[in-house]
Amino acid sequence: MKILIANRGEIARRIIRTAHRLGHQTVAVYADPDVNAPFVSEATQARRIGPAALASSYLSSDRILAAAAETGATAVHPGYGFLSENTGFARAVIEAGLIWIGPSPHSVEAMGSKIQARRLAEEAGVPIIPGFDQSQDRGELAAAAGRIGFPVLVKAAAGGGGKGIRIVHDAAGFEAALTEAISEAERSFADGAMIVERYIQRPRHVEVQVIGDKHGNLVDLGTRECSVQRRYQKLLEEAPAPNLPDATRQGLRASARQLAAAIGYDSAGTVEFIVDDETGDYFFLEMNTRLQVEHPVTESVTGLDLVELMISSAAGEPLPIEQSQVQLVGHSIEARINAEDPANGFAPQIGTVVHLRVPENVRWDAAIEHGSVISPHYDAMVAKLIVSGPDRPTALAAMAEALESLVIGGLVTNAGFHRWLIDQSPMVEGRITTRFLDENDIPSTADPHEAGIIAATVLAGRRVHASGPWASLPEFSLTPSRPLRHMFLKHHSGETLEVPIQRDRAVGSHVAIDDIGVTVNLNGYSHFFTVVDRSSHWAPISDQSHGSAGAIISPFPAVVTEVNAAPGDEVEGGEVLVVIEAMKMLHSLPAGGPGTVAEVRVAPGDQTASNQILITFKEH
Ligand code: ADP
Ligand code: ADP
Ligand code: MG
Repeated sequence: MKILIANRGEIARRIIRTAHRLGHQTVAVYADPDVNAPFVSEATQARRIGPAALASSYLSSDRILAAAAETGATAVHPGYGFLSENTGFARAVIEAGLIWIGPSPHSVEAMGSKIQARRLAEEAGVPIIPGFDQSQDRGELAAAAGRIGFPVLVKAAAGGGGKGIRIVHDAAGFEAALTEAISEAERSFADGAMIVERYIQRPRHVEVQVIGDKHGNLVDLGTRECSVQRRYQKLLEEAPAPNLPDATRQGLRASARQLAAAIGYDSAGTVEFIVDDETGDYFFLEMNTRLQVEHPVTESVTGLDLVELMISSAAGEPLPIEQSQVQLVGHSIEARINAEDPANGFAPQIGTVVHLRVPENVRWDAAIEHGSVISPHYDAMVAKLIVSGPDRPTALAAMAEALESLVIGGLVTNAGFHRWLIDQSPMVEGRITTRFLDENDIPSTADPHEAGIIAATVLAGRRVHASGPWASLPEFSLTPSRPLRHMFLKHHSGETLEVPIQRDRAVGSHVAIDDIGVTVNLNGYSHFFTVVDRSSHWAPISDQSHGSAGAIISPFPAVVTEVNAAPGDEVEGGEVLVVIEAMKMLHSLPAGGPGTVAEVRVAPGDQTASNQILITFKEH
């Protein structure tokens, strides 16, 4: 096959990897901001499809199909997001005579509306959330909310990605929430249809992976826990879901198979459920008719390659496994590494990855590599860190260790947030609900000063051993006779720190260092520092009166850090003779004109008073 991947980033790379292993060729399609992205160079061939705007690139069915025709592609894998659940695109691919590596368009369609999906689930004997979806009349929706009992959730029928969802706590708030949800849904999906559902109070998001073929075979591959969510979007996932009563686990898996079988499902898909943590009751949420971001945790515990199974099913081959052969071994956890700042409301971040050190013994499915530029155009998810172990505690420990070893410099990510999360008791106990992040304050980024001390210490040590660019930086050579004891470092937040160098300190942190700067991982948070050139901290005082014939005087109380003159020296005007430090700033005191030094009254370390005479000159 020659598989065109109608996607970008980590999922494009992940599909390319399996395709190449199986001996298929691949075609990457890309928009301008991705021209240097790894997935573009890793594919057998690549085709530009347009500018950054989604409508003229990754969402342009026409351009992607044109690229397929030009390159002679024989199959299309849509990845997730973008056109993956667009039945028009799937049909166009099939009509163009290409293999669609995804579920048949009719099952995508069947699950496309949450209203229809609820009907189908009900008919298949799968429990659905008590709710109302029979009418779009606002009065009827409000009356239904009253019957269901507050709190309720209003939810877009066409929804996805957590958009068009609002919790409503009482009748008074219903109208406003409905209006907001409708307008968000209209903007996002061009469809404002709503469902009113009972809001499950202690909700856990548990889902079941299924895979089918074109011969009517279908198996489930166990559960995944995806309750760690922020704004209804998943941040961390596990397989299998922990702490489920046996009946719940069996029920979930059987329900997923029933629903998928009812629509003749023939590819990889996921049936999502809400589990009430208080009762163990479960309810159908929706079915995602595509590969999911979190599929690696299922691959880890089943030993299967879901992309491989999708490709073989699409090619008409029967599934190589039966339900009884599906074995779930161990536990796996995935942390989504997003370019966003959890300490700042998860605000999206842009940047350039100047340092990247990935721990060993993990699966790292990444869009980024060293040097990658994160532009504001696309999703914030830049990588997935996946670990596994024989059991959940081992996997959690492996995740903690991996997060402490992962060094990403130049780009703020949520890795430190994940490290914090791993230690929280609901997480340790496997009882996290989707409300966890709403109910708990996320700590701000760990202290940059502490990380700065590590950075300075590592840099100072490197200077001793290396003769590279660090050694030639001016701040290291100004007082060569005395070892550096402090250093000015600029933190990625923009803050400049003056940090002590602690030579006897054991550096246990993971650090990446090069000519650009140093990144220190402290408690999972990557801190990127550059050395502040001493000269940029000089505030030259050019007022002639301080340097003219009579003397150099201290303009304010300060500490002398440097003296570059001795009695008898001939100096030029502008030559810096003394450097003083005050308010963490260095100030250079230059000679006001040419002259011969008479007396030097201070030495480094001396405290000066305002207007104190520091150096005198002989009259010429
Ligand atoms: P989307 O298509 O946006 O993924 P879902 O229906 O899957 O929408 O819901 C997204 C998330 O919202 C779920 O993972 C869950 O956390 C939460 N959620 C949805 N419905 C309910 C409900 N009735 N009660 C509590 N939480 C819910
Ligand atoms: P001291 O302990 O007397 O401050 P150091 O040798 O540690 O001596 O440092 C000399 C001076 O240089 C100090 O004032 C220190 O703050 C300053 N310094 C060290 N590193 C830098 C740097 N990267 N940029 C600017 N100034 C620096
Ligand atoms: Mg969902």
